[in-house]
Formats: sequence, C-alpha cells, structure tokens
Amino acid sequence: MSDSDSGTNPNRRDFIKIAGVASAAAGGAGLGMFGYAAGQDPASYLGWQNQEGASLIFERKHYEVDVPTYEKIGPTSRPDARVENIFDRRGSFMRQLRSGGEFEEPLKSYYEKHPEDLELDRLSAEEIIPKRMADEAEYGDRFFLSQAWSDAMGAVGPDPIDSPPEENDFPRDRRGTPIEPVKLKGPEMTARLIKKLAMQFGSTLVGITELNPDWVYAYPLRRRGFENPDEPLEVPEHWKYAIVVGTPMSWDPMYANPNYGTSNDAYSRSRIIATRLEAFIKALGYPARTHIPGNSYDLMVPPIAIDAGLGQQGRHGVLITPELGSNFRPAVVTTNIPMKTDRPIDIGVEDFCKHCKICAEVCPSGSITMEGKVEVRGYRRYAIDTAKCLNFWMSNLGNMGCRLCVSACPYTRKANWLHKSAVRITAADPTGLSDRALTGLQKSFYPGPDPEDYYIPSLGGDNASYREPPWWLRTEDFIDLG
Ligand code: SF4
Ligand code: SF4
Repeated sequence: MSDSDSGTNPNRRDFIKIAGVASAAAGGAGLGMFGYAAGQDPASYLGWQNQEGASLIFERKHYEVDVPTYEKIGPTSRPDARVENIFDRRGSFMRQLRSGGEFEEPLKSYYEKHPEDLELDRLSAEEIIPKRMADEAEYGDRFFLSQAWSDAMGAVGPDPIDSPPEENDFPRDRRGTPIEPVKLKGPEMTARLIKKLAMQFGSTLVGITELNPDWVYAYPLRRRGFENPDEPLEVPEHWKYAIVVGTPMSWDPMYANPNYGTSNDAYSRSRIIATRLEAFIKALGYPARTHIPGNSYDLMVPPIAIDAGLGQQGRHGVLITPELGSNFRPAVVTTNIPMKTDRPIDIGVEDFCKHCKICAEVCPSGSITMEGKVEVRGYRRYAIDTAKCLNFWMSNLGNMGCRLCVSACPYTRKANWLHKSAVRITAADPTGLSDRALTGLQKSFYPGPDPEDYYIPSLGGDNASYREPPWWLRTEDFIDLG
C-alpha cells in the first residue's frame, strides 16, 4: 500500500516510530478492557435481524390491558377460505370461468349472496388483468430489477441439480426457453448491484473474485448432475467469477462451543442468500450456481474468500475476516456475469498466527499444528488433521461439530470500535509487539477449560464448553429431565 492510499491508518514505516506507544497502549488498562467490552456490546451484533438491539423492541408492559382491543358484538363464526379468502376465491373463479359452465358450490351461493364481489372478480379477470399484461409490455422494463429482486427474495432453497453445469446453471423461462442476458452498464455498476442485492438478501459480507481453478475439486464433491462423477471435473468456462457471501453464527451459542453452537445456524442463512443471488443473476439472463453445504460444493471456499478480499486464512484453517474474525459461514455463487473484482487484503494474520497459537492450544483433538506451515498442493499453509478433528466431532455430545478454534480465536469478536481498533493496530505493527500483547491479554484474562475437559465424562472430560451457554439453551432450566 502506498503512502497516498493509506488513508487515516498508520502505515508500517510510520508504525515503527509509534510502536512503543502502541505497545504501551496494548499493555495498558484501556486495552485490558478490550476483551470484556468486545464481548458485551449489544450494538456490535452484526448483519442479520435479531432482538439484541435494545432499541428494537417497544416497551409493551405499560400498555397491557385485560381484554384484546377488537370488539365482539354477537355470535361468531369462522371464515370459509374457499370464498372468503380473496386469493382462493379468485383462483376458483378463474378456473370455473375457463371451464365455461355454471358456477359450482360454494362459489354459486357466495355470489348469490355477494353480487358486488362477482362484479369485482369479473372486472379483474376481464379487464384489469388483460390490461396489466398489455401495460407490462409497454412500461414493464422500468420495473425489471424490482421484479427480479422480488422473485429472488421468494427463492429459499436452490433448485435441485439434475444436469451438468453447462445445462443446469443457465436460466430458462417457465416454458424452458433460454433467457437472453440483459445489457448491463459495465462491470463496476454490475458489481455494485450484485453486492447491494447480496446484502439485501441477508449477507453480512460479500466479495467478488475471478475463480482460480486451483480451488475447484478435481472430482465433483457431491456428484450431483454429473453424468459420470468419476470423470475429472473440468472447470466450466462460465464459472469465471465467484461471489462469496455469508453470515456469522449467533454469538452466544458460538462462544459456548463445542456443545451449544451450530454451523447450521449461519450456513442455513448463507444457503438462502446464495440461492436468492443465483435466482437474481438468472433473472438477468446469466448462468449462476450456488455452492453450499449439503447441496453442491465443488469448491474450496476459504481461498476463494481470500481472493475476494474478505480476509486471510488462520492457523486453524478457517477464514479470518476483520469484521467477524472466524465467525463467518460462507457460500459461493459462480457465474460469468461481468463484474469488477475485489482485491485481497492483509490485516496481519500471518504474523499474528505465528505467535498466537491459541487455537492449537485449545483444540481437544490436537488437529491444529503448533509448527510452521507446510506445502499442500503447491501452496504454503498450516496443516490441519481433518480426520482427528472429525473424530472429536463424532465422539463428543451436543451439536454436531466443534468450532472451538473459531470461538477461541482472538479475531472472533463482535465488530465494535475496540475490536476494529485492535485489528488496525496489529495490521500496522511490523514489530509483533501488539500481537504478543493482545495474545497475552487473552490468555491471562480469558482462559478456557483444558482441552481434555471438552470430552464427555466417559472419555475423561467433563462436558466443558468454552463459555457458559446462553439461558435459552440450558435444557435443565426448561425441560424436566427426571
Ligand atoms: S473444530 Fe475443534 S477439533 Fe476441529 S480443529 Fe477446531 S478446535 Fe480442533
Ligand atoms: S487462534 Fe491465534 S493462531 Fe489460531 S487462527 Fe486465531 S489468531 Fe491464528
């Protein structure tokens, strides 16, 4: 980064001059409050709807009354959905109109009793709807994006994958006719639109990159849609770009890993976001495919997220973002819609992980190395023993998985100003002093249970969690366990 584009952050050269001051600050009482404040600030809940922001909820207690405010003035009855629900009645009306005969019951009796509704239903079918179709042809283009957005918002699960990417990923209309791509106003505008829509669909972070074929499995992972899944997977040409979206897991259960957090939490939201994004891109006439857990996951996501500027990979093998640390569950959409791409970032994770090693110390299965990086398929990275990791998942109780390395990582803190300041300081510090100071603070003030305590008692542990579970997951407080 040049001096001119370093903005208001100190650059690494300047930082040497102020390293002493920063280190002192890191060791001081103010930063000593870092972990506490970062864990407590409700305003730092980020990215998706929740009830943690106190200002969201109206104080109802003062307004409670003894009886509901609707008025009961006579004998009551329940509505007949077939005729009194407008959507249901209109559906029946259209079907019976098309069949050309007399209205059948219960529509017949309803219209005899309510001739004004027959008139309105007829008006809709014979005048309003045909006119709307004509108007759409004349003025509808203006609302193309809002229609595409609305349709995409209605998509909550990806279409089943039943054909190869060259077929499956390309959009078709209801009659099966290929949809022509719309003309876009350049890659920069398209990237802006796609990112905004990803946020609208619920994403907390989003980044775009050209897809490096090295990050595509050599053979398909889920084998869905491939005629011969034992054939090597040629990277489809239209998987030119990768859009990475994602959300954090709920903070309190996440801190109570391994027993209470769940990856389903954020992954399910990321699935919906990616599904909506796929639907939106297809509505623009371009191919798109979601890569999400449980559906089709033919990519390795962490390095793609690194390329897309979302963060860096930590010693624990998980992506570390400046906003959420490792508490980020991503999904990817591949497409060829031309977009401006993002640039990778360096927030100093490489140096931090050399000294920190907290994830390796906390890991119950010994899956995370204390040593340096090794070569994996031509890249340098920390080795992770995935078999040992999965064996711990399988032998432990509580929610499937573990995620302790995510919870304990000092980067995994809520995105308040204190956390962001700490990330800026460590990113700019070439001396490693602030890395050591922050790591020392975490180890001194926020120790976790010993690794063996996380095991179930029959394996020598005591069912420990990294932090106490939130009140709403304490089974014993709500269920009579006998
Ligand atoms: S998920 Fe748990 S067992 Fe696996 S590497 Fe992380 S801390 Fe270790
Ligand atoms: S816990 Fe420490 S060593 Fe592990 S990934 Fe996080 S920063 Fe790196």
